[in-house]
Amino acid sequence: MSGRRRAGAANSTECQLLKLSDLIPGLGRRQPERPDSDGPAPKRAGAAFAARLTFESVERRYGDQMALAGVSLDMAPGEILCLLGPSGCGKTTLLRIASGIEKPSAGRVLISGREVAGPSRFVPPEQRHVGLMFQDFALFPHLTILDNVAFGLKLLPRPEAYREARQVLARVGMLRHAEKYPHVLSGGEQQRVALARAIVPRPAVMLMDEPFSGLDVHLRERLQEETVAILRETRATSIIVTHHPEEAMRLADRIAVMRRGRLVQVGRARDLHRNPADLFVARLFSEINEVPWTVEGGALRTPVGTFSVPDIAEGEPAVLCLRQRAIALVAPGQGLPARVVRVKPLGDAALLDLAVEGFEGLLRARIRESELPESDSEVAVRIDPDRVLVFPADEADPPAPAAGGA
Ligand code: ADP
Ligand code: MG
Repeated sequence: MSGRRRAGAANSTECQLLKLSDLIPGLGRRQPERPDSDGPAPKRAGAAFAARLTFESVERRYGDQMALAGVSLDMAPGEILCLLGPSGCGKTTLLRIASGIEKPSAGRVLISGREVAGPSRFVPPEQRHVGLMFQDFALFPHLTILDNVAFGLKLLPRPEAYREARQVLARVGMLRHAEKYPHVLSGGEQQRVALARAIVPRPAVMLMDEPFSGLDVHLRERLQEETVAILRETRATSIIVTHHPEEAMRLADRIAVMRRGRLVQVGRARDLHRNPADLFVARLFSEINEVPWTVEGGALRTPVGTFSVPDIAEGEPAVLCLRQRAIALVAPGQGLPARVVRVKPLGDAALLDLAVEGFEGLLRARIRESELPESDSEVAVRIDPDRVLVFPADEADPPAPAAGGA
């Protein structure tokens, strides 16, 4: 990297050190929430105001299909929420409804307490102060990077729009590409431009649909951190859609797990890890061994131990979930006999795959490296009942094999 340049120059490293609020006067100041008004968006979208975003029992039907089957969610102003769920569960539909490019079939959306979509009201997208970043970035191929970013500032006089667009391009480290066209940029660069275009009108709410999905792992992590830093500066209340639990845990204040048009659980990463609402969430946020078994006499009497299950009916299929750290090695004769099938040292810790009589699968335990036994040796294990979870079996989803091959 060459010598220092003045702020505003096309030196991406230096620009990344600048805060958006330094570049755009007034941005960093806390401003009052926008009073309830039906008026058009201000000419200058300069008011980065803190907005509460609320979904109330939002439904969206396509013919017979319920893409959203009653979603309720309340986001605090400035909160960053990651929306996580498998393909087709309704994530994009939820963002489209929040942004106003689609209408709910039932329910309401409110921004700072004001209904923007509901039975009696529909505020069009351009009046919602909502930024939407599409999964494929959707840059305009025939416009330069600068014009792509200035596009969202159509109501400003051109010189002013370009000035703001340049400032935001500098913030994302892309100013030196301002006169280029999108097709010459890499995926990561296009992502930065799309981000710049979405934030330049200073939206109160920012919706990002899988913004990192097309990027390679190293670039992804860096862009994630930069993106979250920028969202924090703008104080936009943000939803980031992702497929990756680790990404959600790293980025979000709260995580919303969605499945088949519903929110299964909303909470902090720690809560989802410690107290998953169901097997689906447990699989996403914890490394678990699954022992499928049937409830008999109010308990699961499995080869790895008996665990009472007061909440699941007699004769119903259930899944006993053992966290890897729930399985500890103890002195021979002091616990359940097991045979070490495979050991995998990881530095401080090690993974053990264990065979237990009566259970077809393998149990994977995570132990301290110093406790590592020989492969193929006979050991005894104890299962910590506090680290065991039991859920009703998940009919839609066959159980994952215990202790996968990797
Ligand atoms: P996700 O973003 O989580 O992958 P989507 O919100 O795109 O899921 O879609 C949710 C469900 O709604 C899917 O089954 C999808 O096929 C259906 N869907 C989405 N948009 C339409 C549409 N315009 N017409 C019909 N079905 C749709
Ligand atoms: Mg989608």
